[in-house]
Amino acid sequence: MMTIIIDGKELAKKVRSNLKIECEELRKKGIKSKLAVIMIGDDPASKVYVRNKSRACEDVGIEYEEHLLNSSITQKELIDLIKKLNEDKTINGILLQSPIPSNLDINEAFRTIVPEKDVDGFNPVNVGKLVLNQDTFVSCTPYGIMKMFEEYNIDLTGKNVVILGRSNIVGKPLIHCCLNKNATVTTCHSKTQNIKEITSKADILISAIGKANFVTEDMVKENAVIIDVGINRKDDGKITGDVDFESVKEKASYITPVPGGVGPMTVAMLMNNVIKATRRQNGMID
Ligand code: NAP
Repeated sequence: MMTIIIDGKELAKKVRSNLKIECEELRKKGIKSKLAVIMIGDDPASKVYVRNKSRACEDVGIEYEEHLLNSSITQKELIDLIKKLNEDKTINGILLQSPIPSNLDINEAFRTIVPEKDVDGFNPVNVGKLVLNQDTFVSCTPYGIMKMFEEYNIDLTGKNVVILGRSNIVGKPLIHCCLNKNATVTTCHSKTQNIKEITSKADILISAIGKANFVTEDMVKENAVIIDVGINRKDDGKITGDVDFESVKEKASYITPVPGGVGPMTVAMLMNNVIKATRRQNGMID
């Protein structure tokens, strides 16, 4: 069986060009769409992510407003800014780029972003809706992965899905996305015993750990679907995923590369969520 390399870059382009058309149609109706991004400090990786998001907005036709805050900002100043953006009628989506300095309470910040503008899907109300399988803003990385499955006709019904990682932004929402699509879901984390035994049974293996070459060929079932969320920087500055791509590829039926896999889809689904927020705030959808 030929291995299919899932082209996240191409698929993201397609999603974005459809959104561009939607955005133009909204504009013709006099409706503009705008994303506000808050970034605190100068984490180099965050800077790259924020730049990618601003470029994607420009490409799709979404207006973009950046709030770059010094890492000495207080919790009150951060919360006050979020409240101001909540009330600003010209802003449809609010995104707080993580990580933020550890003296600040990120949970309170996420809680403060009103659910209607929470395009990253991190407000507990939106997380709760995902758990209950209700319409919501799904966090962008898991949502991008689900979009890949849809576009490549990978049906999750009855499949054994194994997720490596249980973070609030990737692993946990993914559990519910896959469960909502009728998969049997197993989650592994740093305390899991005998990971290889578990991953070897996966029809679909999704790795979101952040360790280069963690997933090796001997951990993978023949013809499994492999989704690599990891972004790890190598000594030469290039990025690599969690999966030992070259060897695992030989066994997989589908596999995502890094770069060019999950990353671009994450940004595309953020754009999708901003447009959805705009439509909803203008009474065009429930
Ligand atoms: P995170 O918050 O650091 O979570 C890592 C998870 O991996 C934790 O649940 C941790 O377990 C688990 N883990 C760590 N070492 C492990 C081991 N040896 N065996 C099994 N589980 C282990 O990371 P994250 O924010 O979810 O991100 C994960 C990776 O995805 C990173 O490389 C990040 O850069 C990347 N990422 C990519 C995108 C994208 O768009 N492509 C988006 C977000 C993140 P514990 O819970 O027990 O500590």
